[in-house]
Amino acid sequence: MADVPLKLVDYRVLFLEYEERHYEDGVYYRRDLEPGTGVWMRGSDGKIASLWFTCPCGCGAIAAVTVNPAYGKAWAWNGSEDKPTTTPSILRTHGCKWHGWLTDGIFRGT
Ligand SMILES: [Zn+2]
Repeated sequence: MADVPLKLVDYRVLFLEYEERHYEDGVYYRRDLEPGTGVWMRGSDGKIASLWFTCPCGCGAIAAVTVNPAYGKAWAWNGSEDKPTTTPSILRTHGCKWHGWLTDGIFRGT
């Protein structure tokens, strides 16, 4: 599977363009956006809480990884917004079941 770079956009691109957003089987889809389109979301404390992104496989599903333990079970994160590395690997439990890694801002499927 090809490497997919994380492409950061304003959160409004991912979340507020309702006309382009579809909700199916408990998952939001944005099939109009490129795979790996992402947004860092902040919690009520102003700190980064999670990374939301369109699935690297191209299915269009919006997935998320929490990186701040204050907001639940969290992935370890290197603290970089532009070139994030999270561990362990990411597994989508719905839909496409994409499994891979986010390393230095690149999604790599297994
Ligand atoms: Zn997918």
